[in-house]
Order: sequence, then structure tokens, then C-alpha cells
Amino acid sequence: MEIVNSKFVTSATNVEQTKTLPRMSQVAFVGRSNVGKSSLINMLTGRKGLAVTSSTPGRTRLINFFEVVLRSRVEREMCKCGEANSYMMDKKLYVVDLPGYGFAQASKKMQGGWGDSLTEYLRASEDLKMVFVLLDLRHKPTQNDVDALVFLQSHELPFRILGTKIDKIPKSRLHSYIKDVVSVLGLTVNDVIVTSANEKQGKQEVLNVINGIVS
Ligand code: GDP
Repeated sequence: MEIVNSKFVTSATNVEQTKTLPRMSQVAFVGRSNVGKSSLINMLTGRKGLAVTSSTPGRTRLINFFEVVLRSRVEREMCKCGEANSYMMDKKLYVVDLPGYGFAQASKKMQGGWGDSLTEYLRASEDLKMVFVLLDLRHKPTQNDVDALVFLQSHELPFRILGTKIDKIPKSRLHSYIKDVVSVLGLTVNDVIVTSANEKQGKQEVLNVINGIVS
């Protein structure tokens, strides 16, 4: 499975702007600044510079829409000649890069602004099929992470946790890191997909989830 085409569509500062877009399924990515969100989107799309990685926390304050084409192989039943055959299926959707939340350098007022556009978008978007919440598993989830999950659960929005930068965790300790994080959040180990943009890990797992929920 592969994203074969991806392009930046628009950056929105508020939810009204997002409503003028042609309707398509949306999958959103959210997490605190510096968690590795841009790198992960670039890894999934195979486009290094698509989502702008920010060295200054909080530079990416906008709701960024990318139109992508996800291509998967569909196996057909054996034909009479005995040959299995397959065909390719393309699905078009929006990957939505949400503003990073909760970082020290931003003023309270500005944080409020981003938080508002973020929650407004999450509440209002009828085409939103999945929210991927990114967590760096080496760190205890922040209050912002907890708040985000409570918000998603209370609004019955489907979500999955993506553990980022796992190349920084010794393999022997990965399971205990995951367990520590999910116990804080009241989730299970199965709610987490582990990823590394640097080592291109987790790409197929995430694309599989997307393929399963987007028609
Ligand atoms: P964002 O602010 O959430 O979009 O995070 P970025 O994608 O800009 O990444 C923040 C920092 O983490 C950058 O210095 C990246 O090079 C680094 N980073 C991102 N993903 C990975 C990863 O999978 N492994 C490692 N080791 N570093 C990563």
C-alpha cells in the first residue's frame, strides 16, 4: 500500500474556511509541537518536504490540508484458469495536519486561539474518519495529551495513538514504554501503533488503518 500522489491544498485558520473545500474523507494528525508530526506525514506520503517540519515550536499553527491518493492492491478470487489476479484501487482523501498544541513558548492567548480552532474543527468536520494522536513514548503524556483524548472520547471521534521516534527507544524497553503511556491514558497496548519517521517504521500499519476506514 502506498500514497502515490500528494499535494498541499490549503491552510485554514478557522473552521469556516475548511467547509468550502470539496467534500472527501479526512484523517487528521494531532500532537504537541515537536512530537514528529510533520516528519510522520512526510514519511507516509513519501514526500520529504510536504509538511513543513518546524524547528521553532509552534510555527505550524494552521489547519493544513493535503490531498492524497492511497493505492492498494485488491486480490480477486482465482479465475478458472487457476491464476490469482489482482487490481489496484485508488482512494482520494485529505490528510489534515492540525496545529501542534501546548508548548511553553506560545502565549496563553495564542494557545487559546489554536485550541479553539482545533476543537472547532474536530467538532464540526463531518468527513473526519480518524484522528491520529501522536505521542513520543519516551515521555509521560502531558495534560494537553490527556485533554485531547478526553475530548475525542467524549465526542465519540475515532482515534488511534501513534508512538513516534521509536528509533530512540531500545527495543528491549519498547513494550514497557508503551505500557507506561497507555496506563496513564486508560488505553490498551493495542491502541498504539509504533512509528519512526527516521527508520520508516509503522508506515504500512498506518496506511492499513486509513485504507480500512476510507471508502
Ligand atoms: P512537529 O513539530 O511535530 O511537526 O515535529 P517535526 O516533524 O518537525 O520533528 C521534530 C524533531 O524531531 C525534528 O528535529 C525531527 O528531525 C525529529 N524527529 C521527527 N521524527 C523522528 C523520528 O522518527 N526519529 C528521530 N530520531 N527523530 C525524529
